[in-house]
Amino acid sequence: DTIGDNFDRTVRAFGERDALVEQFTGRTWTYEQLAAEVNALALGLANAGVGKGDRVGIWAPNCAEWTMTQYATAKIGAILVNINPAYRAHELEYVLNQSGITMLVAAESFKTSDYAGMIEEVRPRCEALRHVVLLGDEEWNALFEHGRQADPALLERLRATLSADDPINIQYTSGTTGFPKGATLSHHNILNNGFFVGELCGYTEADRICIPVPFYHCFGMVMGNLAATSHGACMVIPAQAFEPAATLRAVQAQRCTSLYGVPTMFIAELAEADFDSYDLSSLRTGIMAGSPCPVEVMKQVIERMGMTEVTICYGMTETSPVSTQTRADDSIERRVSTVGRVHPHLEVKIVDPETGLTVPRGTPGEFCTRGYSVMLGYWEQPEQTAEAIDAARWMHTGDLAVMDDEGYVNITGRIKDMVIRGGENIYPREIEEFLYTHPDVLDAQVIGVPDRRYGEELMAWVRMREGAPPLTAEALRDFCHGRLAHYKIPRYVHVVDEFPMTVTGKVRKVEMREKSVELLG
Ligand code: ATP
Ligand code: MG
Repeated sequence: DTIGDNFDRTVRAFGERDALVEQFTGRTWTYEQLAAEVNALALGLANAGVGKGDRVGIWAPNCAEWTMTQYATAKIGAILVNINPAYRAHELEYVLNQSGITMLVAAESFKTSDYAGMIEEVRPRCEALRHVVLLGDEEWNALFEHGRQADPALLERLRATLSADDPINIQYTSGTTGFPKGATLSHHNILNNGFFVGELCGYTEADRICIPVPFYHCFGMVMGNLAATSHGACMVIPAQAFEPAATLRAVQAQRCTSLYGVPTMFIAELAEADFDSYDLSSLRTGIMAGSPCPVEVMKQVIERMGMTEVTICYGMTETSPVSTQTRADDSIERRVSTVGRVHPHLEVKIVDPETGLTVPRGTPGEFCTRGYSVMLGYWEQPEQTAEAIDAARWMHTGDLAVMDDEGYVNITGRIKDMVIRGGENIYPREIEEFLYTHPDVLDAQVIGVPDRRYGEELMAWVRMREGAPPLTAEALRDFCHGRLAHYKIPRYVHVVDEFPMTVTGKVRKVEMREKSVELLG
């Protein structure tokens, strides 16, 4: 199927049911109502000269119009380019030019960001950019008006020109390890992945999914939107950007059955002062993904949020994104401590990064995957594509993983984050999990810093719980003594209020390393 065909199928089956709720404005759409908007916008875009393969950028925080644009562009075969809401002018300019965006749909502003101003600033340097439409302005409304007056048979004609293998979406990676790369994905890539994620969550038209994760990222637009629409479930947008209280309010008000988040979001929700006053009894499942999920947080999500069927997903933008997922019928122990087993219709192997040979079960190596989910490539970056995807179409993820005898996978870190101290390979993840068990520690991250004697030394960045007494390096080291091997005990401890984060809620270790080097002088 193409995304449009799949969406239409759901509209035919579940037209009367809720499709989309914007909790922060109170607007709601049934599938039939949403389809009317999507079709009007699709025809309006076509009428404005947007054709198959043209790049349409979307630069806005989460809102219903984002979702409408996602499905409208898919219907006419235009390639949607997701633009990070946190970008500044120079990053916007890079993406506009790198992907050759001809039409940009953007919010006028968001929080302290003046999007319209930044667009004007870079526009003279973006040759391909012909149209800029600001959400809610006259031109935006005109797209819908023209679309409503257009002949609907045009959509049918366009539909006949589309193939499920066409590129339909460019998603820039989170930029956790460096500059973002434009993963180019087909209908087939992301629609199937969304569908299988939904299958493994057991979604039906009765589900209502609370999506506080950004749409610009695959977590929101694939695991959220496409998983929902391919099963007839309802998408609930709690707020334009993540706010813990707004998320809990939306779950309560909309009787959501599923809730998404990266670990830091769940940590923030659980830490809300009036957490116990929310009625979250409708929650059945959800997804935690994006970065390592501390076991303790998973346990609390199950026990205190009642998400008894919650799953963990592992994946990356380049693989549509999900490669492994825990299943609701896996044992609790496995569901909290692994990223599950390989997804349907995918191959996985763990290889020695040096030799490329598959390692035995239980031995860490690089996670590689092959199958329908592997992206078409990085947009106009053939060299980087060839580095990531080998001749046999295996995607080399750069993530370190261990697979046990029964196929359960554990992500132990990123190749780039591995610390080598005096010849000893150290996986920061293991130490982070341990520090997390300290009663005063809210969150911990471990990095390697240069050291003359050992090559690298360990440094822990720690966020303390509210009201906790000050923590010294000595005290934390004492806590570790006897419980961690001596070489895994962090030499330096740095207490902070916040970690440097990407907008997807991931810790930017690159930035932490740079700051640490400065700190240590
Ligand atoms: P960039 O590639 O630009 O540096 P990024 O890799 O963070 O950024 P994404 O595609 O958003 O960009 O994230 C994918 C990465 O997130 C994976 O390669 C993996 O390192 C990490 N990740 C995703 N899910 C999990 C998980 N459940 N457990 C541990 N790590 C995860
Ligand atoms: Mg990556």
